[in-house]
Amino acid sequence: MSSDLENNPLLKIFETEFIPYKIIKNEHYFPAFEKAIKDANNEFEKIINGKIPFSLSSFEKITDFYDQLKILYNNKRRLNSLDEENLKKKEIDSLISEFESNIYMNKDLYMKFKELEVSNLSNEEKSAYKTHMRKFLENGMNILNEEDKLKRLKEINLEIPHLISDYENNMIKDEAELHINITDENDIIEMPESLKETAKKLSKEKGYEKGFYFNIQAPSYKAIMMYCKNREIRKQMYLLFGSECYTTKNSNINIMKKILELRKEKAKILGFETYADFVLSNRMAKNEKNVYDLLYKVREKSLIAGKRDYELLYNYAIQYHQKNNINLENFNSLEKWDISYYSEKIKEELFEINSEELRKYFPLKKVLEVLFDLLYKLYNIKVSKVENETLYNEEIQVFKFEEDGKIIGYFYIDLYPRIGKTRGGWVYALKPKIINKIPIVGICYNCRKPNENEEPTLSLNESEGVFHECGHSLHIFFSECKFKSISGLNVLWDFVELPSQFMENFFYEYDNLKKFNLSDELIRKVQRMRFYLDSFFEVNYINYSLIDLKIHSNDFDNNSDIEKVENEVSIDVFNRPKGISRSLSFSHLFNATYDYSVGYYSYMWAEIFAFDVYEEFKKGDQREKAKKFRECILSKGGSDDPNVLFVSFKGKEYSILPFLKAKGLE
Ligand SMILES: [Zn+2]
Repeated sequence: MSSDLENNPLLKIFETEFIPYKIIKNEHYFPAFEKAIKDANNEFEKIINGKIPFSLSSFEKITDFYDQLKILYNNKRRLNSLDEENLKKKEIDSLISEFESNIYMNKDLYMKFKELEVSNLSNEEKSAYKTHMRKFLENGMNILNEEDKLKRLKEINLEIPHLISDYENNMIKDEAELHINITDENDIIEMPESLKETAKKLSKEKGYEKGFYFNIQAPSYKAIMMYCKNREIRKQMYLLFGSECYTTKNSNINIMKKILELRKEKAKILGFETYADFVLSNRMAKNEKNVYDLLYKVREKSLIAGKRDYELLYNYAIQYHQKNNINLENFNSLEKWDISYYSEKIKEELFEINSEELRKYFPLKKVLEVLFDLLYKLYNIKVSKVENETLYNEEIQVFKFEEDGKIIGYFYIDLYPRIGKTRGGWVYALKPKIINKIPIVGICYNCRKPNENEEPTLSLNESEGVFHECGHSLHIFFSECKFKSISGLNVLWDFVELPSQFMENFFYEYDNLKKFNLSDELIRKVQRMRFYLDSFFEVNYINYSLIDLKIHSNDFDNNSDIEKVENEVSIDVFNRPKGISRSLSFSHLFNATYDYSVGYYSYMWAEIFAFDVYEEFKKGDQREKAKKFRECILSKGGSDDPNVLFVSFKGKEYSILPFLKAKGLE
């Protein structure tokens, strides 16, 4: 090792318990990747030459260090995208894509897999085997003799990421450009002060003489939809949002069509009828029919509930106008841009408390205490705070998870937005669970940051989110898989949200809410508020899922009119305005990091299983159930077909009823 490499802390990452962030510098990443890849390639060479006996374990072990490095690199970028000086991002990205595709385009390695006697493998080994074979297949290893096709496949695999990057860039441009500047403060008189402040500051920054600046990014868009009393402005904002990358100069139409065409071509080359077939062949749902069956079934119920909720909200709106002497012309129906506004009002009136006021009941410290108590109650896990000097940011809190006096993992909590940090919430295994190593799992969120001297509190959604991400974390901590390719969150994509969505339920349990000093009445309100008017959300979600399936089917081609296709697929209780499209700013489907194409349905798919598991928990001793859940599902990762894992837990097939009942759809 040259002295530069010797001093590179990234190369010693397996020797330290925590990650030595204080001494890791941007310039350490590129040489570390070069070294990791060179070493791994040497090892692969040894496997090919027979110097190392080939097995699934020996194959996977080769990339242990590389994978660890990649996790740190990806997290670094998601947590601080502004600090990329000397990182050599482009160079590293090329190294990564070249290295990974070379593994699965390597005929000799493929032959090693082909020679394995599959019938001798355990179920877990079979699952790991299948995971790798799928990657070989995606890289054309089953069409090795058809050179033209193979060449074309490589071209497609290279071209799609570029197009997705163009698609994403157009969205970034539109999100920066599309906005409205409200000059009459009276229009937003009902908006919380903090939101107005931000908008006012932004208006100045953007060069306006006066006013309040709102763009189409979620917090800003939502603020208008919920609190702007001027209906025309809400409409304008809604249409602006729907026009993103559609009727604007940064149109994604051609890019999207090109991606869809290439995906279709790829599926055909690989021997599938459609791209949807290709994706779903590696999902719990298995095929399109199963997904459609589910979506149509829930849609039917949601539309009935939706009509009921529509009537309720419309009548409320009329009463509200009368009571407040508001004279709205042409208020003959509720429109899309009315939903959030009146929903917020009716909730406030019905539950006599607004979401901001509720925060004071949920101090962050208490939310964590209740969560950790629950972990002890269910899984016998003791959680305690750890002081750590080596974090990437001082806002992060670290906890130690112990079972029977043994540390099973560290848990990082990173809750607040920072410039350069990705939006939303997610979980990451900073140190994946590898035998004899203590895993580190982190949850990231973008909660409202408290002002100075203010006690940190969480909203209902944020509290639920912390429970959700903790559910994912248990999936990692409890994994007992021998192979990392199927360990923890490495399960079929439509199964991954089960443990997380399952955990959300506990936050709303009477016994747990009681710990926050809520009166019985307020507890009932909070529980009811959870899915109040939820039908609108479900209908919308299903329509989006159907659009996802439709555009990835053979019915869609270059001549299709996207708005028309979306209209045909969507059934709603609200009118669908003209001039909007969802597919052209649908980042789930055209995403470089998390590919949810033909997968938008998966949230609901997993949620159905999550509610069914929760129903089982109600039927007996929770600790017993938790033990079984851990044994049958959390510890198993992707080591068997999820349907099999589920049946081993419940003793029979899943039921959709608990989901429908919880959502008020049955
Ligand atoms: Zn999740």
